[in-house]
Amino acid sequence: MTNATIFEGDGPEKVYHELLKQGKFRIQRCGACGGHIFFPRVICTLCGSADLAWIAPSGRGTVYSTTVLRRKPESGGNLNLVLVDLEEGPRMMSRVEGISAEEVKIGMAVEASIIEDKGAPLVVFHPAGEAK
Ligand SMILES: [Zn+2]
Repeated sequence: MTNATIFEGDGPEKVYHELLKQGKFRIQRCGACGGHIFFPRVICTLCGSADLAWIAPSGRGTVYSTTVLRRKPESGGNLNLVLVDLEEGPRMMSRVEGISAEEVKIGMAVEASIIEDKGAPLVVFHPAGEAK
């Protein structure tokens, strides 16, 4: 692998990860069309404007799709992979924790939180209303 020089400087992906390290989950909002953007971009995917600002999403979302990734118990057991529609609109790939992979259902209300995963902060979801 070569050095990922493409990520040098304060590109939106780097800013996103820096904010996450500070415990802040942020998405972008377009000043031109009002749309919300995730994953971080340089220009709005909806209208092409570069007028993007970081905002704090509510953290609430709905499971759009869910997949169970089968793993042996010694490898940590089954994992789930979900697409969550954030309340603000963007769809993000993540996983739901706190319940078994098979219990995650489409349409389930979930809430985001930031965990440490392999030494890096990661946004995951929990069933809404449950203690984190
Ligand atoms: Zn826009």
